Amino acid sequence: MAFKDSFSKITKSLSDGASNVVQKSNDLIEISKLNAEIDIIEKKKEIIYLGIGKLVYNSYITKVELKEEIKNKCDDLIEYDEEIKKIREQIFNVKKIKKCSNCGIKIDIDTSFCPNCGNKQELVKSNNSAEFSDSIEDDDTL
Ligand SMILES: [Zn+2]
Repeated sequence: MAFKDSFSKITKSLSDGASNVVQKSNDLIEISKLNAEIDIIEKKKEIIYLGIGKLVYNSYITKVELKEEIKNKCDDLIEYDEEIKKIREQIFNVKKIKKCSNCGIKIDIDTSFCPNCGNKQELVKSNNSAEFSDSIEDDDTL
């Protein structure tokens, strides 16, 4: 009997360990997926930068004001930067880290006070990721 008990304890801890490994590799997949999304947005930004450059040059050559067109492209860049910011927050959430709202260093998500500056931290709900992915799906339907 005693042997059976300890055996079941061992198998339990083994399967716990295995599920941790699965969780970790899922996290890594999630993080690389999010990083890939950032790469795509960065490429879109590069295209917009080129477009702005062309507009500025055309405006210079033709002496036609293209302020509105340039403004629109800059607004697009701001939107893309916002998207990147959101994705970076998601990555932090998966990694279980956050940035101190005062000094900006990366700290554990459950830390109440910043070890660097002592600033009190707002509590972050650990299952935020569902909310984040919901908001991304909303964005896609727009
Ligand atoms: Zn701090």
